[in-house]
Amino acid sequence: MGKFPYFSDVHEEIREIARGAAEEFKKTAEEADRNHDYKIIEKNMKRLAELNLIGIHIPTEYGGEGLDLVGHFVALEEIAKGCLSTAFSFNTQRLAMDGIRLGGTDEQKKKYLSAACSGSILSFATTEPEAGSDVASMKTTAVKDGDEWVLNGSKHYITNGIFADAHVLFARTDDVDGKKAFTGFIVDGDNPGIKISKVENKMGATATPTTEYFIEICRVPDGAVLGEIGLGMPLALSALEIARIGIGTQGLGLMQVAMEQAIAYAKERVQFGRPIVKNQAIQFHIANMSSRVELAKNALYHAAWLKDQGLPAAKEAAIAKVFATEECTWVCNMAMNVLCGPGYTTDYPVERYFRDAKVLEMGGGTSEIMRIIISREEVGKV
Ligand SMILES: Cc1cc2nc3c(=O)[nH]c(=O)nc-3n(C[C@H](O)[C@H](O)[C@H](O)COP(=O)(O)OP(=O)(O)OC[C@H]3O[C@@H](n4cnc5c(N)ncnc54)[C@H](O)[C@@H]3O)c2cc1C
Repeated sequence: MGKFPYFSDVHEEIREIARGAAEEFKKTAEEADRNHDYKIIEKNMKRLAELNLIGIHIPTEYGGEGLDLVGHFVALEEIAKGCLSTAFSFNTQRLAMDGIRLGGTDEQKKKYLSAACSGSILSFATTEPEAGSDVASMKTTAVKDGDEWVLNGSKHYITNGIFADAHVLFARTDDVDGKKAFTGFIVDGDNPGIKISKVENKMGATATPTTEYFIEICRVPDGAVLGEIGLGMPLALSALEIARIGIGTQGLGLMQVAMEQAIAYAKERVQFGRPIVKNQAIQFHIANMSSRVELAKNALYHAAWLKDQGLPAAKEAAIAKVFATEECTWVCNMAMNVLCGPGYTTDYPVERYFRDAKVLEMGGGTSEIMRIIISREEVGKV
């Protein structure tokens, strides 16, 4: 990748460790994809914890490494090169951890962040059948009952849901000043009120489990409330802003392996008596892929660096997410053009990259919602 202003020697060390893990995960990525094998992803998540990659930017007192967000994204970028399903689960784990890091009590952080750094798995749930982009349409409710809360409703499309040891989830509580209010909760995975009903069959990222569950008379103690009552929405959105950079970073990893595969193939494949890479048309495809990789890298690490400085980064995170994910889809499509027939078969991983890429445009806020965030900031300035 060459020298880059946002990376220190520590980041390069993290990259080396993550690269080793990605090489391990690559060996089972095709099998995990073909069989929708969540167990492989669960095992990979434990391996990430063993390598101390889960808690890179979690404070040391809560079991993490106490480093920066850039360090976390460097690890995520490498993991996405080996297995996108693992990277997707990893990013969601970090999203839930950020919810707890940003809103949790000291006790919650000690309990859940330390466990998550050492291999327990978390999910993060806002989405419901009637609440996708419009998160505030959530129907799940939480009602106070003595020193407990009773939750009822449902969640769907929840990554890691089936094997989560705890769920960070959001529910509607009493209105505040006549406005809808939401509150975060941490619900243990073995709570009998959480009933897993379905794991989705997906086009790509098939081995990261996308789960639907019902929440039925789910009783949790007062200590399960995450952050302030009624302030769940800003908490969820703050955590999602970071996760958004992570989704773009997965696109950055994926587009690099797609481009590498295209170049390797173009050097070998001979048509009209010479390797296809000798054709300027193919060279231009490679130049266009490389340009997108570099621009995505700059946008993503700039947004991550802003977050590390404690500076506002809503617009930059949205720009980086929408650019990196849409261009990842473009690069995977172009890699498919270069390989052509073989790329469309399962003999090469390009067809998997192509299928995996699309979900990145949706998760953590769609491209349309990202554009709304960007234009709102620009229009607001004028
Ligand atoms: C594989 C996968 C994993 C996921 N993991 C999680 C998870 O772990 N936790 C979680 O909570 N959620 C998760 N999600 C849900 C994801 O965040 C939602 O799918 C996403 O927010 C969009 O919601 P929706 O699919 O209901 O689409 P909708 O919101 O119904 O949108 C449909 C279309 O309309 C557009 N649209 C909607 N509103 C507007 C508007 N105001 N202006 C312009 N266009 C608009 C959208 O951009 C989209 O193109 C996951 C989804 C997938 C596919």
